[in-house]
Amino acid sequence: MVIPYGRQDITEEDIESVAAVLRSDFITQGAAVDRFESDLVEKIGADYCVAVNSATSALYLGCRALGLASGEYLWTSPITFVASANCGLACGAIIDFVDINPNTFNICCDALEEKLERANKIGKLPKVLVVVQMAGASCDMRRIRDLADRYEFYIIEDASHAIGGKFLGRYVGGCQFSDLSVFSFHPVKIITTGEGGAVLTNNPKIAREVEMLRSHGVTRDSSLMSGAPSGPWVYHQIDFSLNFRLTDFQAALGSSQLKRLDYLVEKRNFLSDRYINSFSETGLEFQQIDDEVYSSFHLFILKIDEKKVGVSRHELYMHLKELGVMANVHYIPVHTQPFFSKKGFKPSDFPASIDYYSKALTIPLFPTMGIEAQDYVINSVRSALPR
Ligand SMILES: *Cc1c(COP(=O)(O)O)cnc(C)c1O
Repeated sequence: MVIPYGRQDITEEDIESVAAVLRSDFITQGAAVDRFESDLVEKIGADYCVAVNSATSALYLGCRALGLASGEYLWTSPITFVASANCGLACGAIIDFVDINPNTFNICCDALEEKLERANKIGKLPKVLVVVQMAGASCDMRRIRDLADRYEFYIIEDASHAIGGKFLGRYVGGCQFSDLSVFSFHPVKIITTGEGGAVLTNNPKIAREVEMLRSHGVTRDSSLMSGAPSGPWVYHQIDFSLNFRLTDFQAALGSSQLKRLDYLVEKRNFLSDRYINSFSETGLEFQQIDDEVYSSFHLFILKIDEKKVGVSRHELYMHLKELGVMANVHYIPVHTQPFFSKKGFKPSDFPASIDYYSKALTIPLFPTMGIEAQDYVINSVRSALPR
């Protein structure tokens, strides 16, 4: 038996919805993409949605739409996938990080406030802050919004993990407190389109900009052209971009998956609760989920303090691997990646992230995981612990 840390849940209905598009006349970006975007708007509660071919593209196009430019600063958490930082590099921006809260694994608001105060004094405030809703649990978006108003930066929510999660009773990604949010539809995430992503926003200008940048910076809208078009075939390239489009058959899969979003997230919460109950009194620690947060539990992360648990993270990882339980680590702190080390970041710059990284282990969690498979994981973990 081999149990991965995550996997997609594709139904016959999903397959049928994709097949229907493949049998139709159009398979690239068209009506099914439009429908997926309006389905997301309706479900999540933002005013606009632009679907693209990955969350990486969504983050990059979001940065572009906010006008992030060469020499400006983008800040993010070290505990994220590299894409949360690289979107800024692609715009020529300078990347910096804000350390995490060791309990929530999200960006630490106190550290953020202190760093903003210091940056303000030397005129190096960020233009964009990418907050990462780690493992599906929202940051304290009210506090981050207050700081954004005070220090005038844009907030991008990297909600790649968090579709279906809630903050203050409303779906993450609705942009109540942010300028735009991004979802990922990679197969390990909550719902999938194979590869895919989306930008959601309540700002019509951002939506229009992302839409244009999704396809070469080209428009067919005559009101955006310089001068009247010289024929009905005319399109104008008014900015530089490349091709970031999603296909109609991917979007059809997305719309079909989206119908099951609440069920999938409930299942993840059910399995997470079972893990938490099964590991009480083992010394293992879990992500703290604040009262105003409903996590989508994209990941179930254990924190293993060898002094409390009696076994190291490395030992537990190897033990699980031998039993066919494929754990994983999310994430290697981005500032320690060779590319960022070369820019001068030292591991000790963000000590809470380094400490988290030395202890974190993601164990399998996905909706199609049955109780028996979960019990196998639970027993495998328990069998590694000293009795
Ligand atoms: C998966 C992920 C991304 C990138 O998503 P893709 O759709 O694979 O481009 C970005 N940020 C975070 C936090 C992610 O987990």
